[in-house]
Amino acid sequence: METYQRLPLKVIKGNGCWIWDEKGKKYLDAIAGIATCSLGHSDRKLRKALIHQLKKIQHVSNLYQIPEQEALAEWLTKNSCADKVFFCNSGAEANEAAIKLARKHGRLKRGIEKPIILCAKSSFHGRTLAALSATGQLKYQKGFEPLLEGFEFFNFNDAKSFKNRFDSLEKNGPRIAAVLIEPVQGEGGIHLGNKDFFKLLNEICKKNQILLIFDEVQTGMGRTGHWWGYEYLNVEPDAFTIAKGLGGGHAIGALLVKEMANVLGKGDHASTFGGNPFACKAGITVAKEIEKRDLIQKSKLKGQQIEQSLNEIINLFPDHFRETRGIGLMRGLVIKDNSKLTAQLVVKEALKERLLVISAGEKVIRMVPPLTINDREIRLLIKKLKKTLQRIT
Ligand SMILES: *Cc1c(COP(=O)(O)O)cnc(C)c1O
Repeated sequence: METYQRLPLKVIKGNGCWIWDEKGKKYLDAIAGIATCSLGHSDRKLRKALIHQLKKIQHVSNLYQIPEQEALAEWLTKNSCADKVFFCNSGAEANEAAIKLARKHGRLKRGIEKPIILCAKSSFHGRTLAALSATGQLKYQKGFEPLLEGFEFFNFNDAKSFKNRFDSLEKNGPRIAAVLIEPVQGEGGIHLGNKDFFKLLNEICKKNQILLIFDEVQTGMGRTGHWWGYEYLNVEPDAFTIAKGLGGGHAIGALLVKEMANVLGKGDHASTFGGNPFACKAGITVAKEIEKRDLIQKSKLKGQQIEQSLNEIINLFPDHFRETRGIGLMRGLVIKDNSKLTAQLVVKEALKERLLVISAGEKVIRMVPPLTINDREIRLLIKKLKKTLQRIT
């Protein structure tokens, strides 16, 4: 339906950090399917596990017990602050589940008839209607009104803005069911959560029995150099959503929740494909391979390497770049407002140097490579980016 503005590149195959077009030309991929292909393309171990799974069984529905789903749920609850998992197929869908959880929790625990979910401006939570209503960016919402009611907004990392919103909504009694927020805003321009701000959020939520829900769809599964973005913030959410990196490129999403916050019971939520054996096999394989290959620690180090090189680029092009932002292997190079460059222009021109990068908003060049990226590939990434910038500035 032409809902995408596609680049002129036909992708035929991939391996590790590399993809090939139909003419056999090779490109360095610093996008990884938008932060999804955690182990790179066509990883040998993931491939083997999935071929094995395909030969066993692919889908049965949640009418029955699914060992692969149980294994993944067990791994996730053992390795995070959560006790329970609901599986679905995407990030938006995971957030839909979180919104349902929040509303029911608000009704049951705070006696609110029309629960409100507080969200941050410049956030991104997905394209389905509830997730879109929770997204603090008008450009995604325009044309699709009326949006769902029950979402209010504050400025990200802004304690005053949050307190004002909170006080005015709660002055005549409980109205807020949950705060839904990304630990690091991804699509919104790679904005890191401020630790003091999140500490305050946590305190206010705990005190008032308001659920603190993190959207870790992009930050989860090692992307930040931690398993979960909340570790970097030192704040445990009551629930959080994941998707992108979980399946290593396969469709899977999940809502994770602490026991005490779990108000969803039998019949409250469901998904036909959610948690199917194939997707869960992908998830459990990705998780175990990240562990085995020590990719959390490596993401941290590789991220620092990229940051250092991006700072050198800023020094080379001081008229065009303001700063570099990010954590782990979630990196942004920020273009100055008065530069003629746009992120989209750099994305297009980098393609000619056979480099794939992505934008995050108009002025941020985003890099979210496979967690397996090596030193040589990082050097090539920077070299290609420099060449692109030399040509177009
Ligand atoms: C990508 C993303 C989503 C949406 O995920 P889909 O799988 O595209 O539905 C939601 N939240 C965040 C933070 C994301 O980065």
